Amino acid sequence: MLIGIDDTDSQHGMCTTYLGAVLKTALERQLRENVRLHLVRLNPTIRFKTRGNAAVGITTQSSCGVKDIVQAHIEDMACLHDENTHPGAVFIDRDTPPLDIQHFSHEAIRRELDISYAVKLIERNNVDFLAYKKGRGLIGALAAAGATLGKEDHTYELITYRYAQNHKKQRYINRESIYRADKVTYPYTWDTIDHKNSAIVFSPRSQDPVLYGIRGDDPYHVFAAHSKIISEPYEYMVLYVTNQGTDKHVQHEQIDALTEGCSYALTGTITTAPWAIEGGHIFFQIGEQQRTLRCVAFEPTKQFRAAVRKLCEGDRVVVQGSFIKDCLHLEKLRVVELQDQFKGINPMCCNKRMKSRGKGKGFKCVRCKTIKRHSDTQDIPITREIELGTYEVVPSARRHLAKPLIRDRCVRHPIFPSR
Ligand code: ATP
Repeated sequence: MLIGIDDTDSQHGMCTTYLGAVLKTALERQLRENVRLHLVRLNPTIRFKTRGNAAVGITTQSSCGVKDIVQAHIEDMACLHDENTHPGAVFIDRDTPPLDIQHFSHEAIRRELDISYAVKLIERNNVDFLAYKKGRGLIGALAAAGATLGKEDHTYELITYRYAQNHKKQRYINRESIYRADKVTYPYTWDTIDHKNSAIVFSPRSQDPVLYGIRGDDPYHVFAAHSKIISEPYEYMVLYVTNQGTDKHVQHEQIDALTEGCSYALTGTITTAPWAIEGGHIFFQIGEQQRTLRCVAFEPTKQFRAAVRKLCEGDRVVVQGSFIKDCLHLEKLRVVELQDQFKGINPMCCNKRMKSRGKGKGFKCVRCKTIKRHSDTQDIPITREIELGTYEVVPSARRHLAKPLIRDRCVRHPIFPSR
């Protein structure tokens, strides 16, 4: 059976992945079989999301009593009193999801979908479900049950969950052990630490039940990193198969075909050089076939902005990010071609640089007094401080779905992974 669950948490606590971990234990006890979990990240721009727009999928061999167990756990654990929590769960009694539900799942990662679309597919496929309050969680639940991660690029996240009595206390994780875990398993695990900013990325600061999550390419390295961590005791430890770090949200499009709330990779030429606004956000504009697009690297993207600042008019780039309020919020930047840049210097005379006679008024030789016009200014090429290749935001600003450059080890152009 394929089970999908979503929208059980709130800003004040809980986490749908925690419900997944608790349910795994409960279902394994009931069904006496190994139950598999997957974690699907959906469109990261959705306004209803609490944090990372996650939905949880559970796969079981048997379906006996499954719905009752899921129902009891949702009713016990979901933040049903929160006005923004609208849980949903679906139960597809098959080994692989029907094709139209697989398609729905792909769409939910890239676009904003309406609940009526989910309901139509639920009815058409005779899918059993649970919906609470507005039932909006059915969208994420159906997307999770319809995901076919095994067939596509996928990664892993090992998540540990704290004992309930510790939720309100500060987390204890030995900092040195995190650095050790990262050192021995990077680049096969990533986004554990943001080294440049000395920030621990793999553990949340909020009061949710997650102690830490180790993301990586394969279970072996993820478990190896986990074995190095010294921390407070945890109640649950689960391994999620996930679409995190795969860029599955990104569509390749032209500037004139963008939809608000979707994520894109677009090619263009810089038409307006970068400018900064208060708060340290850096904007620039690209153009392609008479269309222009504003792009922004926000302050939390930190060192990424250093690359953005070095762009000049005429540079050819591929920009990647979410299109929100007519502006692309950058996740990655590929510099494809650098436009030659020149600096004007005073011409030579009598083996010396001539003196300027004032702005636009030409030059005078200090020795022989020869006069030259402003148009005699010598143009010398400037060495560009940016290299061709792909740059990315720092790990602490990365979206769950964004593929870290370090996972792109086989591309033919240079990459500058942020670590
Ligand atoms: P957590 O990460 O802790 O699970 P969250 O960030 O996933 O929280 P939710 O509380 O699950 O946020 O809220 C997201 C809501 O948006 C859910 O109701 C889900 O069904 C809905 N949703 C997810 N993706 C889409 C989409 N593509 N279109 C429309 N609604 C969506």
